[in-house]
Amino acid sequence: MQDKSFESARPIALALPAQRRTRQARIAWGDNVVTVGGGAPVRIQSMTNTDTVDAIGTAIQVKELALAGSEFVRITVNTPEAAAAVPYIREQLDRMGVATPLVGDFHYNGHRLLTDFPDCAQALSKYRINPGNVGKGDKKDKQFAQMIEAAMRWDKAVRIGVNWGSLDQALLAELMDANSRRAQPWDARQVMYEALITSALDSARQAQALGLNGDNILLSCKVSGVQDLIAVYRELARRCDYALHLGLTEAGMGTKGTVASSAALSVLLQEGIGETIRVSLTPQPGEARTQEVVVAAEILQALGLRAFVPSVTACPGCGRTTSTTFQELAKQIDDFLRAQMPIWRQQYPGVEGMKVAVMGCIVNGPGESRHADIGISLPGTGEAPAAPVFIDGEKALTLRGEGIAQEFQALVEGYVQRRYGPRQP
Ligand code: SF4
Repeated sequence: MQDKSFESARPIALALPAQRRTRQARIAWGDNVVTVGGGAPVRIQSMTNTDTVDAIGTAIQVKELALAGSEFVRITVNTPEAAAAVPYIREQLDRMGVATPLVGDFHYNGHRLLTDFPDCAQALSKYRINPGNVGKGDKKDKQFAQMIEAAMRWDKAVRIGVNWGSLDQALLAELMDANSRRAQPWDARQVMYEALITSALDSARQAQALGLNGDNILLSCKVSGVQDLIAVYRELARRCDYALHLGLTEAGMGTKGTVASSAALSVLLQEGIGETIRVSLTPQPGEARTQEVVVAAEILQALGLRAFVPSVTACPGCGRTTSTTFQELAKQIDDFLRAQMPIWRQQYPGVEGMKVAVMGCIVNGPGESRHADIGISLPGTGEAPAAPVFIDGEKALTLRGEGIAQEFQALVEGYVQRRYGPRQP
């Protein structure tokens, strides 16, 4: 009997991320403006872990993060000495040609630092204000107002960044009391979710009541549990149209931090929630701080939201390929592409969307290589020692011998120049 399932099937649509309408914020330094929200691409933010007082060390790390793809870099501003260093960091970056906006991270004394160090307030492009750490009792509103006044004076954006590790305890206690009077009280976790969202929304309203333009406000409510983050941001997105900064706080190290951040952020981004992201990875000993930017870029690229670096499709290898040749080639090509990107980005517009395949044997090698812009299918165990190369879906040539890696790299470079370089007259 003939299978009719294809005749009756409906075409399967590509799963595209939803789009949420938000306000658009402008985050600027000098003539360089980065827009956030309002249909702009999802942006990557990162944070330094240098002592801000070390202006040179901090500027160098900001530059590294920017070159890796970070579009804003947050720096700790925790003491008068750190605030005094901020204009020098900015100056140093400008001298190095790094226009990336700096975000100041303030807790406890931000009101004083932004008032006492106007050059710092001016050099920063955005202030992160944590409503849980602005001040206690009757000082809270006054100190919050001082920070908002600084933002208005210098025309800066603010991120009202709530974190469950430093949630406004007075607000939480108030909501817990109110909850205990309900006929059917919520569980403590639900009250905590509500406290996070209320803290962010109340602070945003307060900032607008003080005169700050709503377009200059971004919100975040960071928690360290994947399901908690998804629940909180879904509700936050439902209740406001501010641009939202996403991040799983204290994600942890290595694989755990990477996977947890990817899981949480991917669900939300697919639902159209999140205008900026940060991956809060704890660097492993010896690991570069830029790893958090690499992971953030990979998340956006994997979801098809943005492209930063040409992607290398490589098979995992199996019993058909017992040598490490294809693993080494895949790594070599990946490292080569990443190293070229700071220059290629300027020289070869669109190259970040290129797809390269490095495959281990004949089973999926030719097929996967044909799907890529340029791909190579290495010989598996027992196969003839020949590596066919496919360019734009067609078999172009076959490489043999010891120099396959260098020859393939040269072919990739030539392909980039031809396809993405300036057209010859
Ligand atoms: S392409 Fe070949 S080597 Fe790679 S995983 Fe598939 S069967 Fe194994």
